Amino acid sequence: MNHQSRRDRLRLRLGELGVEAFLATSNPNVRYLTGFTGSNGQVLVSRGRDVFLTDGRYETQASREVEGADRRVYLAEFAPALAEACAGLGVRTVAFEATDVTVARYEDLSAVCDLVPTRGEVEALRRTKDEDELRRIREAQAISDAAFGQVLERVRAGVTERELAVDLESTMRGLGADDRAFETIVAFGSSAAEPHHAPTDRALEAGDVVKMDFGALAAGYHADMTRTVFLGRPSGELREVYELVRTAQQAGIDAMRGGATEGAVDAAARGPIEEAGFGPAFPHGLGHGVGLEIHERPFLRRGGTDTVPEGAVVTVEPGIYLEGVGGVRIEDMVEVGEDGPRPLPTSPKELIVL
Ligand code: ZN
Ligand code: ZN
Repeated sequence: MNHQSRRDRLRLRLGELGVEAFLATSNPNVRYLTGFTGSNGQVLVSRGRDVFLTDGRYETQASREVEGADRRVYLAEFAPALAEACAGLGVRTVAFEATDVTVARYEDLSAVCDLVPTRGEVEALRRTKDEDELRRIREAQAISDAAFGQVLERVRAGVTERELAVDLESTMRGLGADDRAFETIVAFGSSAAEPHHAPTDRALEAGDVVKMDFGALAAGYHADMTRTVFLGRPSGELREVYELVRTAQQAGIDAMRGGATEGAVDAAARGPIEEAGFGPAFPHGLGHGVGLEIHERPFLRRGGTDTVPEGAVVTVEPGIYLEGVGGVRIEDMVEVGEDGPRPLPTSPKELIVL
């Protein structure tokens, strides 16, 4: 498995951070570095050996999942176990994840080693997906596409937002998803004017727009897609908005080249929407990275200065929301390939009238 090589990439950062070891504690980061899928694990990456720590509930699971690192199981507190691990490795200065450690835990751990706060170190590595990750993301996307195709046949007058959301989720489970990747959004008619909308008992009526934002979680990796369809012929305004969002989305996809800045990709899609006078009706960023978390770096937003690396998987999801009328969003995950951008979904994006 390539968890060892992921830890090697982190190891290269130790010198620059001025530390002897890096302590990863956030669940997605620990999973990325070790393959451990339980809810409580930590890994200490040093210049020499690596030590994985967990509590007694996960001893068997860790022995199955974690390779290439020493495994330590503690029964009570983490701090004394960390002290022992540091002593065993002969390290004193330890980088930790400032965005994950509470003040209380910081106080406990400062008693056992010299802590150096860091932000986003493992998250930066996670921006670039390796082959194993790409395979899992494509699988989660394939399940989401298949579910969309099936559920589309059951979109009819009278069905409620809640029923359609449950239908999408159970269809994805039936197709092999471990879970939904996030809370499914199904919004009808004027409710689609809310970018995020919790499904209600509102029943679908002829002439309504239907906005569905959903995705599967499979083997730890997320999918995220949005499609907007119509029950009956939409008004001229919504048709125009639909085509504009589609044009903007394609412009965003085309701009997704390795090395482009987050802000430049956002601007490529925002441009056509602003030129058409709908700028204020697109109140969110263009997209986000997807992987072990549903929202991760890079974040495509106005003025974002970080770059989108080759190998990233990032959503492109412009939307236009008109209060009292409805809204349109089209979202694809896009793989930033060496030879250009590759959208992962296969579901159609032409305007669909049911
Ligand atoms: Zn989404
Ligand atoms: Zn998204």
